[in-house]
Amino acid sequence: MLTLHALPARLADLGGGLTVHRALPQRERRMVGPWCFLDHMGPVASVGDHALNVAPHPHIGLQTVTWMVEGEVLHRDSLGNAQLIRPGQLSLMTAGRGIAHSEESQSTTGRLHGVQLWTALPDAQRDVAPAFDHHPSLPVQSFGEVRATILMGSLGGALSPAKSYSPIVGAELLATRDGKAELPLDPAFEHALLPLAGTASIDGTTLVIDTLYDLGQGRDRLGLDVSAGARLMLIGGAPFGEAILMWWNFVARTHDEIASARADWESHRRFPPVPGYPGERLTAPPLLGHLMPPA
Ligand code: MN
Repeated sequence: MLTLHALPARLADLGGGLTVHRALPQRERRMVGPWCFLDHMGPVASVGDHALNVAPHPHIGLQTVTWMVEGEVLHRDSLGNAQLIRPGQLSLMTAGRGIAHSEESQSTTGRLHGVQLWTALPDAQRDVAPAFDHHPSLPVQSFGEVRATILMGSLGGALSPAKSYSPIVGAELLATRDGKAELPLDPAFEHALLPLAGTASIDGTTLVIDTLYDLGQGRDRLGLDVSAGARLMLIGGAPFGEAILMWWNFVARTHDEIASARADWESHRRFPPVPGYPGERLTAPPLLGHLMPPA
């Protein structure tokens, strides 16, 4: 029997009054392939208390994957990039040894709906130079009544142009009509699904929005029953095979690396300023105790 574990997301406060559903990491499922973090924002009216406004903050050892369904977010980073992220466009930031960025929803848009995911960089590549890439157009492949946009890696022979560092798949699935879809999966990968909107089911199990469905490893296909408008994120990859340590916005391996990145941020080393952000940057939280990778 193939795995289908339901893992409800928890609420997390992004500051500025915006609450999101955090589907990864979870105690029972820390990673899915290299994917180590998955936030679902909205859908909400992006006004007043519910605007996204994350002041400059640092990252190391990861890639951020930002994908909007509704609304626009302005990304600025310490490399000097300022990029408006629109629905249907992939924003990919590779932190490598260190980058800082800010994220602001734009007040001209009335709604905010999107996801932000992180992938952990493998040990051999986690000190790469920081980079930011914007992909305004991505491959789309139809499987039955589902239209898949391939954000990262490949699915059914369609390959994303986005740079990834380990075997991976990340795709948005959108049902264009009521019906069925069958997607080919790599059985060497582990996979998970996060429903964002609408109605979909697997083998008679109706999927709940903001619950992460752990599909396990070994599946070579995914059969879905969908209603028009259903939208889901499919993530997967080869089991990562390295124990990572996540703290605040850092992905590392040891306490000392985290402590050093935190100290560098607090002393204005390693992470240059983010040009153009109209406000103060974030302060790192206190680092209490000795961090250990989860067992
Ligand atoms: Mn960030």
